[in-house]
Amino acid sequence: MRLPSLPTGLHTDIPMQCLSWPQEGIYRLLLNSLSLDLAENPCEFVVYGNGKAVRDEAALQELLHRLTTLQEDETLLVQSGRPVGVFPTHQTAPRVLMSTAMLVPHWSNWHEFRVLEQKNLTLFGQSTAASWAYIGAQGILQATFETLWQVAKRHFHGTLNGRLVLTSGLGGMGCAQPLAVEMNGGVAIVVEADPDKVRRRLETNHIQAATEDLQLALQLAKEAMSTGQSRTIGLVGNAADVYEAMAHADVHPDIVTDQTSAHDLLGGYVPAGMSLAESRHLRVHNPQSYLAAARETVRRHAKAMLQMAAAGAVVFEYGNHLRGQAAQAGVPEATQLPSFVTLFARDLLCVGITPLRWVALSGDVGDIYLIDRWLLDHYREDERLTTWLQWAEERVHFQGLPARSAWLSRDQQASLLEFLISGVREGVLRAPLAITRDHFAGATMASPHRETEGMPDGSDAIADWPVLNALLTVATGATLVSLQQGGGVGIGYSMHAGMTVVVDGSPASAKRARQTLLGELHLGVLRYAQAGYSAAQDTLTQWHGDEPS
Ligand code: NAD
Repeated sequence: MRLPSLPTGLHTDIPMQCLSWPQEGIYRLLLNSLSLDLAENPCEFVVYGNGKAVRDEAALQELLHRLTTLQEDETLLVQSGRPVGVFPTHQTAPRVLMSTAMLVPHWSNWHEFRVLEQKNLTLFGQSTAASWAYIGAQGILQATFETLWQVAKRHFHGTLNGRLVLTSGLGGMGCAQPLAVEMNGGVAIVVEADPDKVRRRLETNHIQAATEDLQLALQLAKEAMSTGQSRTIGLVGNAADVYEAMAHADVHPDIVTDQTSAHDLLGGYVPAGMSLAESRHLRVHNPQSYLAAARETVRRHAKAMLQMAAAGAVVFEYGNHLRGQAAQAGVPEATQLPSFVTLFARDLLCVGITPLRWVALSGDVGDIYLIDRWLLDHYREDERLTTWLQWAEERVHFQGLPARSAWLSRDQQASLLEFLISGVREGVLRAPLAITRDHFAGATMASPHRETEGMPDGSDAIADWPVLNALLTVATGATLVSLQQGGGVGIGYSMHAGMTVVVDGSPASAKRARQTLLGELHLGVLRYAQAGYSAAQDTLTQWHGDEPS
């Protein structure tokens, strides 16, 4: 199959394919999602993990065609990665509306989903894969940096210097972990079952050393810890085996987490006690045996994490549903392990500091560096932001269209947006930008094992919020709005909303971007305030008068 490719070089120099910039922006983001630079397996339409952007080749071709002919007062509807029709709407309506992987709640489980997927009726879209907002490893790198920054601040006097992080998974998301440890000055051992992935991550400088020998990994880690150097080591092995060994080793990890694809025990998680080739064969030819072996592995994996927590390590689940899987596999106490959200991220979300990303539709890295400079000049005193941006400028390798991601406060988002609007209007930036975000933010996600775990009022499983969030961003005029389920934790466990707004320099697009960004930021804080967080209530009181109440 020949994939349509995103032209290389400066995209301002190539003729637009669509009738105006909002459609063009979405068209470029779709191609970007499946570009060789960015997608993990574009031939299968997989963007990252097991998340797909479109259903199949016919759907992709039709989507591209529909986008190129879409008028400024029309809206394209996409059902789980396949276009279903174009409807007359109006200029301030979104150009694209999507619903992905939605199942009636009683049927919302992996088994039913796979039956329907087999019939080519749906697809698994993770979060930003299906909403065409993936920007490569940077998104998760930035989120992992923020998480470890908070861990260091809360537990280790603001630095991971001399601290050992034990984690696993060097996949699309997991490969951010060693880099984020390095950014925070620590030492990491990252366990990965696939030797090819370890080799690749070494070649791309995600890790600094690789070995199959746990003793050698420990020795390298000990040396680095004693000299206060940062060092990241990829260890080929199964997380269950290594974590069990580490629970009894003389070197005690300070922080333990995991980013294997535990949300999908059949499609992603690798059972211990067999080679990778054997596991791949078993997965296809005897899925029931595969699942039994995976459950036993996840049980041992979680037990070892509990042991290390009891020994004093800071242990948390990093959003992959490991605790839920372990509980079902016979370790109910795994649910007592905290998640990174309740421990570290919610404090930021309650005060309206949320992740935002902007993509240079020009394809010109200069646009992103210019915006970096502006942020660095304007927010010099914000150590968290400046550390991230300086590091990102030095080390983040752009994949596909150049983009930047950052966690920003409401004031920072509002000021940045004005800079982007005037930058595009006055031609300081080479072309319009797409502003988008992870699905991980305020009211954008309902996920009781992750984003909405432990809400004070018990509203963890209330999924009205992401639905309201999606409806709100339709009303505020985002360019693309997406409602999905299953991202991060698997089918049946989350419901979430995505949005993208294209800033083309026109007053109308500026208004839509302002309403959308600040509207959903406000809704996010409102959601936490209503759940009982006093920090969110105080934030709303502070904002009172500026925004709708
Ligand atoms: P991926 O499938 O690309 O990579 C998972 C990696 O784990 C693979 O390389 C696989 O070989 C390895 N692996 C699986 N089982 C293993 C085992 N038992 N021992 C050692 N290695 C094993 O997945 P990804 O995109 O990197 O995502 C990882 C997980 O993180 C997923 O569950 C995903 O849903 C979740 N996630 C969390 C966040 C967050 O915000 N914290 C964000 C995105 C994704």
